[in-house]
Amino acid sequence: MLASLGGTPVRKKFLPYGRQHLDDTDIETVSNILRGDWLTTGPTVEKFESSFAAWNNVEYAIAVSSGTAALHAASFAAGFTSGDEVITSPLTFAATANCILYQGASPVFADVDPNTLCISPKEIEKKITSKTKGIIVMHYAGQPCEMDQVMSLAEEYKLVVIEDACHAMGSTYKGKQAGTIGHLACYSFHPVKHITTGEGGMVVTSNDEWAKRIRGFRNHGMSTNSRQRNKAGEWVSDMSDLGYNYRLSDFQSALGFRQLSKVNDSIKRRREIAQSYDKSFKKSNILEPITVMPENNPSWHIYPILLNLNTLSVGRKEIYKDMRAENIGVNVHYRPVHMHSYYKHRFGYLPGDFPNAENAYDRLLTLPIFPQMTDQDVQDVIKAIEKVSSHYIHKYRDI
Ligand SMILES: *Cc1c(COP(=O)(O)O)cnc(C)c1O
Repeated sequence: MLASLGGTPVRKKFLPYGRQHLDDTDIETVSNILRGDWLTTGPTVEKFESSFAAWNNVEYAIAVSSGTAALHAASFAAGFTSGDEVITSPLTFAATANCILYQGASPVFADVDPNTLCISPKEIEKKITSKTKGIIVMHYAGQPCEMDQVMSLAEEYKLVVIEDACHAMGSTYKGKQAGTIGHLACYSFHPVKHITTGEGGMVVTSNDEWAKRIRGFRNHGMSTNSRQRNKAGEWVSDMSDLGYNYRLSDFQSALGFRQLSKVNDSIKRRREIAQSYDKSFKKSNILEPITVMPENNPSWHIYPILLNLNTLSVGRKEIYKDMRAENIGVNVHYRPVHMHSYYKHRFGYLPGDFPNAENAYDRLLTLPIFPQMTDQDVQDVIKAIEKVSSHYIHKYRDI
């Protein structure tokens, strides 16, 4: 019997959809920095940045205080400003579009592909006007968007492409690493992401001018930071841009450096878990995994499935609640950005404006995936989703 109806839940202990993993060395490393001279903007920030740049195969990595700050800084470097239009996906975390508004530019949504849930290059092309300045793609679930098509549109219309790679650390597209294909890319180090610094983020680029502007932008728009002034014995620092305090601290960078050294193993485990799910749902006519294009090898920040609502007597809401009652921490990624009240009120979006994103939203459920999940945890998730969904199979329809 379903746990929601008084039956025994599949698990005793709640399994979250994502979770950080810190080992003792991570904690010791952070403690050592806390005992040292630099809590912020010290040598460990640079150490983290250079190791991240090397790992991601880019020239420059600039650490910032969150993924959102990274998106804001990238939008600033790209030169998005009032009067500009920037095209992005409606099926993403709000921050992907908010950063366009921070710069005074207008977000323009282009619907997603119904199978991959990544922004569709065909839809992007329809939205390009003389005001379009850039495209922010988001590699949904870690699956890279169709970057060849996106980059050729960018070339044709002289647009800047930012990859919101917050889901896609270590994903590959035609053998190329996510974050190396667009002009700039952004990462988040929130605890559910591939690596964590508590809060934190990174912008990567191979453009030295943009890297310099972003370094200033995260530090009030100033030309030097306090450590550089200290070294040079000078107090003067020119503020040449209106920047923010988006710095990442030294002890967070120490954690990031340690976490980065383990990321390849954790991506490997994420891929294993995704494979187990794929295999189990292959024959299901209730649960549809997203389509992975053959050119892609996703790193699976999340594992979403689409419910085939035609086969079910209830909607996603009931399945969500019942899965939680079974102690499986399912989630939903995402409520489309244009459906949020702020966007609806400010821009007048209506239901049906982005049908693929909206249709996916009605059917989406994110299953737990994180590297420390045991094989038993994975089996529990599979058992629970099969238990709950089969309970609601639409067998009563013809009676
Ligand atoms: C996590 C995330 C962000 C924001 O990152 P924060 O570090 O929480 O600010 C932006 N975009 C996407 C797609 C994300 O998953």
